[in-house]
Amino acid sequence: MTKRQDPSFLVLGAGMSGILAGIKLKQAGLHDFEILEMADDVGGTWRDNTYPGLACDVPAHNYDYTFEHNWKWSGLYAKGPELKAYFKYCAERYGLMPHVRLRHCVEDIRRVDGRWQVRTTDGAVRSADVVINAMGFLCHPRMPDIPGLADFGGALFHSARWDHDVPLDGRRIGVIGTGSTATQITVALAERASHYSLFQRTAQWVMPAMELERPGPLKQLHRFLPGYANAVGKLQGRLLEQVARGVTGDSHWTMRVLEHLCRRHLAKVRDPELRAKLTPDYKVGCRRLILSDGFYDAIQAPQAELVDTGIERIEAGGVRTTDGRLHELDVLVMATGFHALDYTYNFDVVNEQGTSLRETWAEGAEALRGVAVAGFPNYFMLVGPRSPVGNIGITSIAESQMGYLMTLIDELRTGRARAIDVRPEAQAAYARYLDDGLDKTVWGSGCVGWYLDKRGKPIIYPYNPTVFRRAMREPDLNEFQLA
Ligand code: NAP
Repeated sequence: MTKRQDPSFLVLGAGMSGILAGIKLKQAGLHDFEILEMADDVGGTWRDNTYPGLACDVPAHNYDYTFEHNWKWSGLYAKGPELKAYFKYCAERYGLMPHVRLRHCVEDIRRVDGRWQVRTTDGAVRSADVVINAMGFLCHPRMPDIPGLADFGGALFHSARWDHDVPLDGRRIGVIGTGSTATQITVALAERASHYSLFQRTAQWVMPAMELERPGPLKQLHRFLPGYANAVGKLQGRLLEQVARGVTGDSHWTMRVLEHLCRRHLAKVRDPELRAKLTPDYKVGCRRLILSDGFYDAIQAPQAELVDTGIERIEAGGVRTTDGRLHELDVLVMATGFHALDYTYNFDVVNEQGTSLRETWAEGAEALRGVAVAGFPNYFMLVGPRSPVGNIGITSIAESQMGYLMTLIDELRTGRARAIDVRPEAQAAYARYLDDGLDKTVWGSGCVGWYLDKRGKPIIYPYNPTVFRRAMREPDLNEFQLA
């Protein structure tokens, strides 16, 4: 890269944050970029997940981009297909499709002679001055290590790889897991099955979602009064941020309200034995809260069964639990989550000194403000390690981080730097700052789940949204080495 020549970019992933990155680069007049997407369409998680009942449990006006609010959401929460359509619409509206390379799965990233070389599984190698990894953390489904998976005689698939050829009505359906995904599937399928078995390893706190279908007149209001969407979004955003203040330890009364709402919701379960099975043994909010109006009704349907006995193995006929019982099934769904914390799951990043990012992060990933990692100049991330994924809407996180990155990118663009690297001492100080905040959050209160990394440390940013946004307003260039 010569001085005053615009840098080139490779954006990895065409989901919510990759599309955002493309839009912001384009708006800044930076046109030399490609977006590499492993799948055959844009849309990220909303393209991959197509399971019955798929919806977003963050209010729609807090999940869409702040600069592209006027969307025709059907309710307070957007359904999966609406979100897929929305992100595709944004990619098209902002002219990104010519930059998108579909079916380009990244295999290896190396820094050679001051540029990043990205090899995809088709063997092609592209190079650019800057890589923006926007792959997110929910792209690689996690199959459980239960013995006998291959022996099952019926249809078996992961929730993020739904097989729509498999009939569901009137069949014996089993779902393993009790996260947000399994909860939504339960609401959609318990009534349709002849018998529905939900295999629970850990009970979850479930908050009422207070879902509303938006009546026609409100939709019209929304279309003709652009300020309305913003006002609704702001109000919902305030409520969400109050929840974040609770879980990060800044508002005890919020935690009391959340606990009250969850316990009152749980009281809808009439059978005391079932209620006891569904009652978590950890604090509300310690694991990601489930939002669902219909879950407790669905699990109390006559044909539904909550199985909390451990799974021993999977057999041709169904799931054998440790009490010796065989739960006979036609369809078995693994709602068992993703390799969420494995940021280098299917590729490695190697710098000019031969240092591997996978090895650097072997014991746990650290990055300055979730976007940049010492030793890997011009390799940036959106919603990277220790971003505030447990307390702020993910689109809002990506927007703040992209704004921060655009200021760094300006340093490259104006020729003040050719490479921007994080100072190791700044990254270490930032990690200590995050560690110091963990004690007062609910995540450190003794539960297990995917929020914890290999060190047993919650990987979530522990401060409230106001602190995060203030810090992300602009980078402190003293935390970086500009070469
Ligand atoms: P998840 O939250 O990681 O839950 C996975 C579930 O599978 C857990 O209940 C886990 O049990 C269980 N499990 C895993 N391995 C198992 C095994 N070997 N035996 C028995 N049970 C096993 O996954 P998810 O529900 O797909 O959610 C993933 C992420 O997507 C979460 O952040 C979630 O909130 C998000 N999501 C968001 C929305 C939305 O509307 N915004 C919708 C769906 C999902 P343990 O708890 O005991 O580990």
